[in-house]
Amino acid sequence: MMTETNNAAPQPSPAPVCRSCYGPVIRWGKDAHGNPRRYCKACKVSFSIVPPKPLGTMRLDMEKAVLCVSLLAEGSSIRSTERVSGVHRDTIMRLLRLTGEKCDTLLSTLVRNVEVKDVQCDELWCFVGMKEKTKVRKAETNPEIGDAYTFLAVERDSKLLLAHHVGRRTSEDANMFAAKLSGAVGAGRFQVSTDGFDGYPAALESHFGGQIDYAMLIKSYSGEGLDSERRYSPPSIIATEKRVISGSPEESKVCTSHVERLNLHVRMMSRRFTRLTTGFSKKRDNLRAAVSLFVASYNLTWSHRTLKGCTPAMAAGVCRKPWSVRELLTAA
Ligand SMILES: [Zn+2]
Repeated sequence: MMTETNNAAPQPSPAPVCRSCYGPVIRWGKDAHGNPRRYCKACKVSFSIVPPKPLGTMRLDMEKAVLCVSLLAEGSSIRSTERVSGVHRDTIMRLLRLTGEKCDTLLSTLVRNVEVKDVQCDELWCFVGMKEKTKVRKAETNPEIGDAYTFLAVERDSKLLLAHHVGRRTSEDANMFAAKLSGAVGAGRFQVSTDGFDGYPAALESHFGGQIDYAMLIKSYSGEGLDSERRYSPPSIIATEKRVISGSPEESKVCTSHVERLNLHVRMMSRRFTRLTTGFSKKRDNLRAAVSLFVASYNLTWSHRTLKGCTPAMAAGVCRKPWSVRELLTAA
């Protein structure tokens, strides 16, 4: 049993009072649905106490919902979640989108004004429906399908994912991502490292101005022009260039020197992430929801060995204990 609650975790409901006079009430049996009833002697009125419905209008058992969301957060596909839980795939998709919204709300309230020192930004590639190459070949015009990039910003020490954005690899998307990042971090000065994507400098400049020490780490890979899907099995790097964009970034902190320490974590994260995203690639909305769920469960529920068993959110001082999937569903 939990003795301590998280900042935004559901609080135990206070003792019920009368709805008209706010006076004390007594127990009054149960209603037809099994909800407890209370009676106010002063007003001579009885009423039922209906528990809040975290799943809104969805008529899905909470236990099943927790099971489905846990499976989804681990990267199970909708079909495999359907097979394990016995819940219909349409219900699972609705649940996923609902959970994605909850996670976004939760993250935007918890991950705010976080004091950071060292932030790394990266984009992960996946596709919705079909790859861009196939889309061009088939002369497909639907803007929903094609390549999708997930932008992620991670704090190096706490490993907290500060911001995420699903879009394309364009300057507009880089700008939206930078806006999300600026909402998540505090006013202090910090260092940023990104890859060589040319959308970053302008986007970061417009949202952070002189607040950041920013350097790019431009990597050249052997066998340039590899298929995008092979990015997950990293090709060997033949050269790296550190390019200072603004401020005075500490050169030793521009990525590579700490990368070895982070390697295990990055590898685990991107493998889970790949597995997760390929399972949700039929609709962009599903992908967005899956990414939000991934970020929330990564930040709040996963304990890291390298963080002495803390979750990234705990390491960043955002909350005091690990969250459960049930708390993700009932919060917000
Ligand atoms: Zn009353």
